[in-house]
Amino acid sequence: MDWVEELGKICEVFPPSDAYRVDETPPLIAPEPAENFVVVKPENSVDVSEILKFANERGIPVFTRGGGTGLSGGAVPTANGILLSTEKMVEIEVDTENRVAVCGAGVTLKQLDRAAFKNGLSFPPHPGAETATVGGMIATNAGGVRALKYGTMRNYVLGLEFVLASGKILRVGGRTVKNSSGYSLLHLLIGSEGTLGVVTQATLRLFPAMKDITVLAAPFQRMEDAMSCVVEISSKMLPMALEFMERRAVEIGERVSGRRWVSREGEAHLLMIFERFDEAEEAAEIAENKGAIDVFVATGKREQDDLMAVRGLIYEGLRNEIIEILDACVPPAKIADYWRKSNELAEKYGIELVTYGHAGDGNVHQHPLIYDGWENTYFEFRKKLLELAVSYGGVISGEHGIGTVKIQELAEICPDQYRIMKEIKSLFDPRGILNPGKVVLPNHG
Ligand SMILES: Cc1cc2nc3c(=O)[nH]c(=O)nc-3n(C[C@H](O)[C@H](O)[C@H](O)COP(=O)(O)OP(=O)(O)OC[C@H]3O[C@@H](n4cnc5c(N)ncnc54)[C@H](O)[C@@H]3O)c2cc1C
Repeated sequence: MDWVEELGKICEVFPPSDAYRVDETPPLIAPEPAENFVVVKPENSVDVSEILKFANERGIPVFTRGGGTGLSGGAVPTANGILLSTEKMVEIEVDTENRVAVCGAGVTLKQLDRAAFKNGLSFPPHPGAETATVGGMIATNAGGVRALKYGTMRNYVLGLEFVLASGKILRVGGRTVKNSSGYSLLHLLIGSEGTLGVVTQATLRLFPAMKDITVLAAPFQRMEDAMSCVVEISSKMLPMALEFMERRAVEIGERVSGRRWVSREGEAHLLMIFERFDEAEEAAEIAENKGAIDVFVATGKREQDDLMAVRGLIYEGLRNEIIEILDACVPPAKIADYWRKSNELAEKYGIELVTYGHAGDGNVHQHPLIYDGWENTYFEFRKKLLELAVSYGGVISGEHGIGTVKIQELAEICPDQYRIMKEIKSLFDPRGILNPGKVVLPNHG
């Protein structure tokens, strides 16, 4: 760290405070933060370029951090070096005529939502943490409950400004929805988790303002019936969200939120959100035909908030009891089967899973509860679980990314992809200074 004084000549350097040592990754699997690192807070791409040039010439690791809400250890500085925080890159310009927002990387989801709303528009994706930043959401290709109808971050990024490890500033894409101009560097950066470049600014697509919503809650005796309902509804309409919870998850959501869910009966519960009332009515009929124990239609804001709070606060209630939150995806029609087989597998290992997720897009959040001696058997179980998801035509991470926590699984379950990812990484970042130890490892796999 004999370079710190020299770095101080090109930008202000801050000591590492504890808040920068962690992200939201559950502690048992979170990576160990480095002892020594310094924090820099660039204001624009030129500042970032100078910092990266400095770091690249000396081979100093650079860890880019947005809101620190990530769940895969991506923003944790795991080696002595520089933590680059985007917290000062917060300008937003809303271009209402072309329905885009041009945002600094550090703009939070909440700030973006507000800016869009003030201009009579909306930004539909809504990953759960509102302090997540534009840069972080792009770097993880964040999703959330509305992905079924509105897609993930990838569907919203029209243009990007980013800085390569060498300090070169690149601008790709623009303010247009269409772009068939050769290989998409834009889409390579999306989901790259700070390992290929530092995103400094993004042009994001906005949509017309959201309409009033109708919320349905429907408990089912069996997961298979609930999922058969999901499949039929999805073939007839596109709800804004189609969420599922197993009974235990509902109980936790009720306890933490202090609100009542419609029923505790039944193994599987659906929460559905619609922008059109006629669709909600049709969906209620489908749910009844599929054997729902009850179908509750909420049109008033208060009752809608009650239902959504139960679903929205499950993670809060679980976070101190779990090893981690998994986010595999399977095709939606396979969820019930995957859920049953996962539980059978978990039982063999003596592991308890609490499960809920985004039924409409197949993103299943499974939470293994902490047990004695978990370090000895958990990772073997997890690999089998993720292999099971892939065997259904799924993927190992639907929205949280690889970070430090799933590198081994990526390398072992998807070895060909992993090899190409490593080659791409070395092309973008030959000295390996950008977020080292995340997504791919140079001498591994
Ligand atoms: C309560 C809760 C609910 C959540 N719900 C959801 C959900 O519904 N859907 C979902 O997808 N995720 C969800 N998440 C996870 C998290 O919010 C997302 O992964 C989010 O996209 C991370 O954004 P961030 O700004 O906090 O990034 P950070 O945690 O700071 O960083 C995440 C990764 O992005 C990289 N990065 C950050 N900024 C940049 C940049 N400017 N350029 C290049 N790389 C960068 C980092 O290096 C790191 O690898 C949730 C998290 C919590 C705590």
